Amino acid sequence: MAMLELKNLTMDFGGLRAVDNLSLNIEKQAILGLIGPNGAGKSTAFNCVAGVYKPTGGEILFDGENIVGQKPWNLCKKGMARTFQIVKPFGTKSVLYNVMVGAFARTDSTEQARRDAEEVLEFLNMADKKDLRSSSLTIADRKRLEIARALATKPKLLLLDEVMAGLRPTEVDEMIAIIKQMRDNGVTVFVIEHIMRAIMALSDEIVVIHFGKKICSGEPQAVACDENVIKAYLGE
Ligand code: ADP
Ligand code: MG
Repeated sequence: MAMLELKNLTMDFGGLRAVDNLSLNIEKQAILGLIGPNGAGKSTAFNCVAGVYKPTGGEILFDGENIVGQKPWNLCKKGMARTFQIVKPFGTKSVLYNVMVGAFARTDSTEQARRDAEEVLEFLNMADKKDLRSSSLTIADRKRLEIARALATKPKLLLLDEVMAGLRPTEVDEMIAIIKQMRDNGVTVFVIEHIMRAIMALSDEIVVIHFGKKICSGEPQAVACDENVIKAYLGE
């Protein structure tokens, strides 16, 4: 059974169809990349999956269960976590505190939340920054904190929305390694990313959308030389 299955997912904002009959499957422990030009509907599709928006039509099966209409917090408890394109940590709070907020999705014990948060920070090589205010972090570390917060909820499925934007090439390489390692640890990953090199290196499969519709899907090499994809990106 797939970890996530979208069946004809559709989302309208008034007269604008942002996601148009999108169907896709993500197998357990796979990494699926979702790409497409600006405004293609990628974040809207994520927001439907994460329960932020209730889709206008279609089905979303999460580990076999139709989750349409369920709230984000409930989905988080069931094992879905996401990062936001615009990162918004509690700036005046410490890095550790921010990650503990994620951990509290799984436990009521402050001690357990602290241990879980510390373990996640260790995994992300941020243990030495746990007492810093999150507002003092570099962009790269803020992105990492965002992932740490999501990971602390112990997700089965992780949705990553442009976590590489604004990173230097070496930081992109580190992020690719982190995401691959999360997958090796058992997490299924659904990733939106503009940096082509990263999405190509990460994804088992890529789905390309344009004006909300799927225009191509397949292995990275095949998608990269697809005529429709090239046209969409050139703005024809
Ligand atoms: P992407 O993430 O691929 O860049 P989005 O999903 O953010 O694209 O946006 C898809 C389309 O939906 C765009 O035309 C955008 O303006 C529109 N849109 C996104 N969110 C909303 C909203 N909350 N209300 C109205 N229109 C929206
Ligand atoms: Mg977006």
